[in-house]
Amino acid sequence: MDLKGLTIKKFSEGLKKKEFSTEEGVNAFIKTIEEKNSELNAFLKFDLEVHKERALEKAKELDKTIAAGKPVGKLAGVGLGIKDVILIEGTRATASSKILEKYTASYDATVIRKLKDADALFLGKTNLDEFAMGSSTENSAFGVTKNPYDTNLVAGGSSGGSAAAVASDMVLGALGSDTGGSIRQPAAFCGVVGLKPTYGAVSRYGLMAMASSLDQIGPFGKTVEDAAILFSKIAGNDPYDATSYAIDYKNITEPDFKEIKNLTIGVPDEYFVEGLEKEVGDEIHRVIEELKSQGFKFKKISLPHTKYALSCYYIVQPAEVSTNLSRFDGIRYGTREKAKNLLELYKKDKSEGFGPESKHRIILGTFVLSSGYYDAYYNKAQRVRALIKQDFDEAFKDVDVVLTPVTPTLPFKIGEKTMDPLQMYLSDIFTVPANLAGIPGISIPVKGRVGKLPVGFQLMAPRWREADILGIGMYYERN
Ligand code: GLN
Repeated sequence: MDLKGLTIKKFSEGLKKKEFSTEEGVNAFIKTIEEKNSELNAFLKFDLEVHKERALEKAKELDKTIAAGKPVGKLAGVGLGIKDVILIEGTRATASSKILEKYTASYDATVIRKLKDADALFLGKTNLDEFAMGSSTENSAFGVTKNPYDTNLVAGGSSGGSAAAVASDMVLGALGSDTGGSIRQPAAFCGVVGLKPTYGAVSRYGLMAMASSLDQIGPFGKTVEDAAILFSKIAGNDPYDATSYAIDYKNITEPDFKEIKNLTIGVPDEYFVEGLEKEVGDEIHRVIEELKSQGFKFKKISLPHTKYALSCYYIVQPAEVSTNLSRFDGIRYGTREKAKNLLELYKKDKSEGFGPESKHRIILGTFVLSSGYYDAYYNKAQRVRALIKQDFDEAFKDVDVVLTPVTPTLPFKIGEKTMDPLQMYLSDIFTVPANLAGIPGISIPVKGRVGKLPVGFQLMAPRWREADILGIGMYYERN
């Protein structure tokens, strides 16, 4: 079975036509992972064997069901990678942190339960920046993930493992989480599609909380259509997540292109600024020209508070991190180092368990929340956040979606930005606004870059309008 470029859509069609069995499918995923993972480090090695065995067992069951002529789920046999901040019952969940190296999940995240119901298979947990903080997967305690296009380059982050696993055909799709760009940025760097849904569209139950008002789970696929298929399976209201919401996403995988063609696309000046690499900017303009020639209407718009988004994010995000990560105290979670008293235990576990970036953010977050500085930093950032949201509300009175670059640069070299946090943070300059505003965003590979490094363009829409960005994306990839 040739997995190169194989999509979920084609796999499911092939399975229906009995061109192969689900067991053959799983064996192909396993073989590809064995061939490629030692170099790319997209999958974490913990429990890789357990996931393989479970997948094989489930595939055999599915093949029996199919042979008996009984119905199977829409994602039957579809091999997926799951970012290691999402819990799969009975298997390790580390967040790529030493502090959770030995932690085993005791329940399934809601998204996992839904994917199991659709008969999808999980081939393993994917690598990330520790607790999903970073833009290159270099903050993982378990080694960097390499970019399948060029192994000297980063795969992006924090969901670098998921993006690389899909890009290298180890799996057909993957889940990641996006707090400030962690799905869209690695998708752009690895030449795959990544969707960050509306805040509340997908349940966060069973996702390790990082910055709870910004975190969303979302899919990776080789095509926009595949991302839509996965999204349609994981979206929906969940009694275990009070922020989740039931929206009718019916027909999201089969858009009405006549309606889609009537959408107006806005292009904000504020996203074409100094620091945007010329090659990336040129490619975004090429996409705009192509969509124009296909008949889409374009309008210039302004999102005036964009320039404050990154500073705002780096106050709100660490603040929430400092509270969320306080649960890793060495008692309920952690290595429980030998210590004379409680304080010593905290100190030992946290200093040995957390990596430098996590410590950095915990300290920063504790500072901005401290009584003397709360108003000056945290409260002010919340007010700026409201303005950023307002910018989008205003813009969406005029246009249906917004088109921008995903990242200011092409994928960078491993090690290039590790000593300069500000440069690293700038990777997310075009992705954090969507999280602050709670709106959906998607990263789609620019077509026709054969032999060159991938570039992504981003589409953003009002809350709950995933159908519009997925629809334009599907139109673009088909025409
Ligand atoms: N790179 C950003 C950060 O480090 C975003 C991370 C994310 O979306 N999880 O916080």
